[in-house]
Amino acid sequence: MHEMSITQSMVEICLANASGRRVTDVVLEIGELSGVVPDSIEFCFEACTKGTLLEGAKLTMEIVPALARCGSCGREAPVKTHFDPCPHCGGFGLALLKGEELRVKELELL
Ligand SMILES: [Zn+2]
Repeated sequence: MHEMSITQSMVEICLANASGRRVTDVVLEIGELSGVVPDSIEFCFEACTKGTLLEGAKLTMEIVPALARCGSCGREAPVKTHFDPCPHCGGFGLALLKGEELRVKELELL
């Protein structure tokens, strides 16, 4: 499963940063267009953290809305897919500024 390996690597990042301390809270930033399903991440998180210093940690996922800049008119626009046309001028070729995030934003250690 896609989410399983993603979650596994995020858990490893957390463990590396926790340097042996217990983790009580994890905040993840997940872009709307990152392609991962938050529900699956949550499920995988439980499985991946079992028996580690992250076991029982509270998982918070912040969804980052996708934002792109138009190559034609230069304006920024919220988008729902990678292929949306510009809502201002109708042009294609929008460059994604935000929305593909997939990272550990915060860790709370005991
Ligand atoms: Zn445009």
